[in-house]
Amino acid sequence: TTAERVFEILDTEPEVMDRPDAKDPGVIEGRVEFRNVSFTYDGFARILDRVSCTVEPGEMIGLVGHSGAGKSTLVNLISRFYDATDGEILIDGVSITDLQQKKLRAQIGVVLQEPLLFQGSIAQNIAYGRPEASRSEIIAAARAANAHKFIMKIPDGYDSEVGERGGRLSGGERQRISIARALIGNPRVLILDEATSSVDTQTEFEIQEALERLTANRTTFAIAHRLSTLKNADRLFVLDKGRIVEEGSHAALLEQEEGVYRNLVDMQTELAKVRAL
Ligand code: ADP
Repeated sequence: TTAERVFEILDTEPEVMDRPDAKDPGVIEGRVEFRNVSFTYDGFARILDRVSCTVEPGEMIGLVGHSGAGKSTLVNLISRFYDATDGEILIDGVSITDLQQKKLRAQIGVVLQEPLLFQGSIAQNIAYGRPEASRSEIIAAARAANAHKFIMKIPDGYDSEVGERGGRLSGGERQRISIARALIGNPRVLILDEATSSVDTQTEFEIQEALERLTANRTTFAIAHRLSTLKNADRLFVLDKGRIVEEGSHAALLEQEEGVYRNLVDMQTELAKVRAL
């Protein structure tokens, strides 16, 4: 659904326009601040409700909460697919509405649950966003994303066609291509929407390792499902009905007996037990 939503967004005229005096942000450091941000899609239901937080450059935030809590909406506001209805979002202390969108978006990497590949070669898909990238840069990114090996096993290697929406590749392969794509863009801010789909243990390990390389030293907002991400995140923001209701490390939040996070983890543990039967 996230991918479909992004296609919808890409297909529609941008609602968000640059101000005539919008500034070039230059190379950003990646400090992200929400000041009392509220958001509604329809002018009626408040999807985000006075969200405030400050995230330091290089920090990794895991966003958790029930489906519909507002996690995707929150990250979409950072990329400025929509503008906040109230309040403001600042990057390196400057409101994002004062910045040139294109220059800002170029520094925000996005890795989605269902990665968006387009018809074309693997190399073109990796270089998307930086078409001038050389073949050796593409290969370096693929190596760091643990994609090089499987790419080399396909008959045409980097020149292999991925098929419509990447249909000739498996989910785990598409995901590593999109990690390589994010790496080549060298963004300061990263948005991850983690896959929940099951992959085998080896693939899971390779994706995890690739993600660790990708997130190192970048401000990261991860819509987190994997326990490994939850544990590695510097802080977790627990969203409930559009508000950040809890904030802290995995370990600290687990200690809260009646906490929303503790409850979510307990539910997942129960579910895992049922599935294991
Ligand atoms: P989460 O990522 O936590 O599952 P979302 O941010 O996707 O939550 O959704 C929060 C709420 O906003 C949900 O009630 C959802 O139905 C609604 N919503 C999401 N996207 C749109 C949209 N494009 N138009 C209208 N409502 C939306």
